[in-house]
Amino acid sequence: MNDEFYMDLALRAAWRYQALTLPNPAVGCALLDKSGRVLGIGAHKKAGFLHAEANAVFAALCDLDANFVQDFACEYARKFGVKFQNLEALKSALLQPSFTYDFILNRHGGLLRGACAYVTLEPCAHRGKTPSCAELLAELSLSRVVIGARDTNAQAAGGAEILRRGGIEVKFDVCSAAAEELAEPFYLARESGFCFIKINATLNGAVHGRIGSEKQRAFVHELRGVCDYVGVGGQTVRADRPTLDVRAAKFDEISASAGRADMLALDARVAPQNLKPRAPDVWIYSRRNSYNKPNSNFTRKRKMYSECVC
Ligand SMILES: [Zn+2]
Repeated sequence: MNDEFYMDLALRAAWRYQALTLPNPAVGCALLDKSGRVLGIGAHKKAGFLHAEANAVFAALCDLDANFVQDFACEYARKFGVKFQNLEALKSALLQPSFTYDFILNRHGGLLRGACAYVTLEPCAHRGKTPSCAELLAELSLSRVVIGARDTNAQAAGGAEILRRGGIEVKFDVCSAAAEELAEPFYLARESGFCFIKINATLNGAVHGRIGSEKQRAFVHELRGVCDYVGVGGQTVRADRPTLDVRAAKFDEISASAGRADMLALDARVAPQNLKPRAPDVWIYSRRNSYNKPNSNFTRKRKMYSECVC
């Protein structure tokens, strides 16, 4: 296996949450031990929650140390009143970031010393809603960090320098084209905004009736939750009566992973609107009239989501 193979694991993990992380970039991370065994794979899932590196580290420590995962679940239940049904539920939940990060730092036990991380984007250097990923990886004494794309965001860049100061070998530009493609929606959203165009069609081109699975519908509704507007044709409104809301979004795992009130009380930096997806405003357009059309300010700065069928 070469660097490209492991970076591809990180890229695939990140794409599962593409655009759902806005205004943050989609990022993935794969963590390997000295012999090349995959210890953990993680992705950034939602702004305000753990970054990909911390999620990969958490997944690895859960598998490596039974006491780590047991104690974490107990303390989490005591602090937030939330219990997880099994290890998979714990790993996939949106965990309270500060608590989880501190728990990792206090309880990693040197288990990831000498490990190697493959990260699609240069680990962040700054402390925002979550602590710096570069500092986390340095603290864990990794031996090598392989990076897909350089972070050009002035606020977050500089992670590689922190890693090198921590004695970690850093390699850049592995699968850089794919890593930059992954980050493109993030840069577009910052600069000029963009539209999703959703077309539901069968392989033979039919667009009528219910097309797609529940999984696909949930993903679409999750995407709506990060959009400002959904544009829909007048004929679709008349024929289908779509509700155009976010009812199928799976973000309810947030409330299962952390009591909303407790979470806000413990970490005021997590804004309430981050906890539940909000249905976008609706723009109805037809041949002669347009209702609730976004103004020119919106079209320059925000993103829009357009689709045919609910
Ligand atoms: Zn980070």
